[in-house]
Amino acid sequence: MPLTTPTADSTDTSDTLLQFLYRAPIGLAQTSLGGDIEMVNPMSAQLLMPLSPNGSLDNLFTTLEALAPHLRQLVADFSAPSGVICEAMRLTLDHAPRSMPGPQVLSLSLMKLDESRLMAVLADATAEAQREQQGLARRLRDAARTDSLTRMPNRSAVRELIETALQRAPGDPGHDFAVVFINCDRFKQINNALGHSVGDEVLGLMADRLRSILRGGDVLGRTIEAGQMAARIGGDEFVIVLDELHRPDDVHGIAHRLLDALGKPYLVGDHQVYCNVSLGIVLRAQTGRDADADTVLQDANIAMVEAKRAGGARYVVFEPTMHERAARRGGIEAELHTALADGQLFVVYQPVVGLREPPASAASAGVECLVRWRHPVRGVVPPLEFIPVAEECGLIGAVGDFVLSTACRQFMQWQAELGPSAPRLLAVNLSRAQLTQTGFVARVEDLLRSNGMPAHCLQLEITESLAAQDEAVQACLHELKALGLTLALDDFGTGYSSLSNLHQFPVDTVKIDRSFVSQVDVSHHHRVLVQATVMVANSLGMSTVAEGIETPAQAAVVRKLGCDKGQGYLFSRPLPAGELGPWLLAAAGQAPVLEATA
Ligand code: C2E
Ligand code: MG
Ligand code: MG
Repeated sequence: MPLTTPTADSTDTSDTLLQFLYRAPIGLAQTSLGGDIEMVNPMSAQLLMPLSPNGSLDNLFTTLEALAPHLRQLVADFSAPSGVICEAMRLTLDHAPRSMPGPQVLSLSLMKLDESRLMAVLADATAEAQREQQGLARRLRDAARTDSLTRMPNRSAVRELIETALQRAPGDPGHDFAVVFINCDRFKQINNALGHSVGDEVLGLMADRLRSILRGGDVLGRTIEAGQMAARIGGDEFVIVLDELHRPDDVHGIAHRLLDALGKPYLVGDHQVYCNVSLGIVLRAQTGRDADADTVLQDANIAMVEAKRAGGARYVVFEPTMHERAARRGGIEAELHTALADGQLFVVYQPVVGLREPPASAASAGVECLVRWRHPVRGVVPPLEFIPVAEECGLIGAVGDFVLSTACRQFMQWQAELGPSAPRLLAVNLSRAQLTQTGFVARVEDLLRSNGMPAHCLQLEITESLAAQDEAVQACLHELKALGLTLALDDFGTGYSSLSNLHQFPVDTVKIDRSFVSQVDVSHHHRVLVQATVMVANSLGMSTVAEGIETPAQAAVVRKLGCDKGQGYLFSRPLPAGELGPWLLAAAGQAPVLEATA
C-alpha cells in the first residue's frame, strides 16, 4: 500500500513525519515482520519496482527474495525489541528479475520498529559502488605498476611509457626519446658484505637521487621538459625514459650527470657504501621499425652489459652490431654449462723462469695455469672469450674451482714424477667473483690439504682493480695470505693505480704487463717505467715478473733492470700438462733456451 500524499496544510507531528518520509531522498518501506509491505515512499517504490517479480510491491522479502534469502532468517533471529537489525547490506542486482531499468547496487538497512513492524531503508548505491570499484581498480593498478621498495614505477609502467613513445610517428613533435638502463656494478658484493638490508637502503637512496635528478631545475630537467620517468625494474636495475627529447645528443651530458650523481658514496648507518653504475642507452633512431618496449629494454640492457665489460662506471650507447656479440655471449653461456659437465675445459701451463739464477734451476721457478676450452665445433677457445661470460653468468666459481683443483693435483703429480726438476711455484689466476664467494678461503685450504700441497707453493694472481676493491675483498685477500700462500698483482701497469699506491696491495709479487715488456728494448720511456716498477716493488719487499717476453733482447733488458722472473713465448708457450715435464728436462739439461737471459 503506497503512502498517501500528505496534504499541504498538515500540521500535526505524524503529518510532518509523513511529509518527511514522502520527500526523503532515500527509500523507506514499512513492513510486517513477515515482509508484507504496509507503506512505501516514492523513492523506495522507484528502487524496488524494477525488482518486483510480478510488478506489484506486496512483500519486501519476495521482491528481494532471490537476492537476499537470508533476510527472513535475519529477522527471525533478531530478538531485541527494536533497533537496527542490519546495517547497510549491499545487494548487487546483476541477476535480479528486472521489469525496468533500476539500480545495480542497492543498499538496505532493516530496523525493527516494534514487535510487529520493520522499517526498510533503501538507497541506490550504484554510483558509490562504482566509485569504490574504480578506486580499488586504480589502487590495484598502481600497486601493479609500482615497485614496493622504492615506490617508483616498475617495469610495467616503463613498458607502457615506451610503447606510447614508440607509437609516435617519425616527424611528430617530441618524437625522439631515449631509454637509459642503469645497473649497479657491484651490488651483489654490497649485499654479501653488508647484508640485504643495507643493500635495500642503498637502492632506496639511489631512487631518491634519480628522482631528484629528474626534478626540474637540473641539467636533466632543463633538457627534457615532459614525459620523463625513473623506474626500478628489478634487483639493482633502474630505467630512465627521457621522452620527447629535444636534442638526442643531450643524452651524453645526461649520462655523465647520472654517472656522477649515482657514483657518489651512500651513507647507510656507519657505512660509506660506494656503488658505481653502468649505463646502457638506446636512442629512438636506433630502434628497429618493429621494435616494441621489450626490444628497447633488451637493447638498452645489451648496451649496459657492454659498459660493464669495458670496466663499468661508464655508459655505452646501443648500436645494432651489439646484438651479434650478445648472441655469441648467450651461446657461450649455454655451451659453458655443457663444457663443465662434459669435461671440455682443460688447463695449460706456461713456465715462469728465474732470471737471476743458474739455468739448471731457472726453468723450474714456476708455472702459470691458464684455462682452455676444447669446443667441439670451434676448437680451442681462449680464456678471454669465455672467462668474462662465466663471470657474468655466475659460472666462474665452477670454472675457477676446476682450474684450481686440476692444477693443484697436477702440481703434486710433477713433484712425484720430476723430483727436484718439478716446478717450485704454481700460479693460478683469480676472478673477482671467486673472491666474494662465501667459503672460498676454506675451499683453497681444503684443496691444499687434500693434495698435500705446501701453501707457499701456491700463488694466486689478482688484477689491480680486484685488489683495490672494498673491505670485504681486502679481508679475503688477507685470509688467503694467512694460509701461507702468496699473492701476485697481475698485468701491472694496465689498471688505474700507479706506483705510488703499490704499497696498498697485500701482494708479494708484481707481474709487469706485456705491453711494457714488449717495448722495453726499444723505448726509453718503457724501460724507465719497468725500472721504476722493479725498484718500488723491491723496496716494498715484493718480487717482480716480466710478462710476455718474446725476444732475447727483451729478456736481456728486463734481466738487467732487475726483474726476478720472466714469462713469455721466448721460453715457452703455455703447454699441456704432459709436455711440461719434457720441456723442463730439456731446458735444465740443455740450457740454451734460458741462456738468452744470461
Ligand atoms: P694473464 O694471467 O696475464 O696470462 C698471460 C696471458 O698472456 C696468457 O694468455 C698467455 O698465453 C699470454 N702470453 C704469455 N706469454 C706471452 C707472450 O710472449 N706473448 C703473447 N702475445 N702472449 C703471451 P691467455 O692464456 O689467453 O690468458 C689470457 C688471460 O685470461 C690471462 O691473462 C688471465 O687474466 C685470464 N685467465 C687465463 N686462465 C684463467 C683462469 O683459469 N682463471 C681466470 N680467472 N682467468 C684466467
Ligand atoms: Mg695471470
Ligand atoms: Mg698477466
